[in-house]
Amino acid sequence: MAPDMAEPRLSVCLTFDFDALSPWVLEMAEGNVAALSRGEFGAVAVPRILSLLERHGLPATFFVPGHTALAYPDIVRRIRDAGHELGHHGWVHEPLSRLAREQEREILQRGLDALDRVAGVRPVGYRAPSVDVSANTVDLLLEHGFVYDASFSGSDFEPYYLRRGDEAPVNAPYVFGESTELVGIPFSWGLSDFQYFEFVPGFTSRQDTPTAVYEIWHAELVWARENAPGGVYDLTMHPQAIGRGHRLVMVERLIEAAKALDGVVFERLGDYAARWRDEHPLAEWLAAAPVHARPPAAS
Ligand code: ZN
Repeated sequence: MAPDMAEPRLSVCLTFDFDALSPWVLEMAEGNVAALSRGEFGAVAVPRILSLLERHGLPATFFVPGHTALAYPDIVRRIRDAGHELGHHGWVHEPLSRLAREQEREILQRGLDALDRVAGVRPVGYRAPSVDVSANTVDLLLEHGFVYDASFSGSDFEPYYLRRGDEAPVNAPYVFGESTELVGIPFSWGLSDFQYFEFVPGFTSRQDTPTAVYEIWHAELVWARENAPGGVYDLTMHPQAIGRGHRLVMVERLIEAAKALDGVVFERLGDYAARWRDEHPLAEWLAAAPVHARPPAAS
């Protein structure tokens, strides 16, 4: 194989956080039963998304809370049977920064148990509900054998090894912890659908058109293709938001635009993360003094 054919220039990873009822049960419905039903729409939308992916022959990644897996086991098995990756997304969509370490460990295990029971899978990937992460999360993910997390935003298209043991005092310099083996796949709110599209009193206020969102998503795609060789374009969507007809039309337009770019491949996040880790051993990565690693002590 010619050297220039050896690697894709950009990996597009379509990811879907299949939250369904979970965030509404935990906090967003605030006891309003009609608001809870908004989560049910996610279960209507997933088959539409699976059809779209099948029509284009694309793999994808679905992050699923344990609560969703138990509410919609058949749909979760359909996702698995279509060859898509199932990732961990909490139990009932708990923000982790509010939890004690033992509570967080218990919730992580409860989510693992649900995915195992429903689909017989042991996920290698994790995205924190609401990308709300605690100081213990990296440790707990390593303890449970995860390969990657897709919650941090320290980069845009280039992964980096996540640290543990950071400290952020207000009256002293930032303390960088040590880099670990956990691959950080960059998350970006700009490349997430929910806050653009869905009005939730007290949480989000916008109702953007798909055209406006396409402009952002497509420009990021083209820029990444040109400027982030070997990188990953991690698009975060939610079936209950993206599953409306006019928005699915936009996603299909984006898929077609991505397919038309040279060197773009579609991958499951887990496949991309495992390959990136193999190609960037931690010791070699650290030797290049990347900005995401702890710098030498200031003299
Ligand atoms: Zn979520």
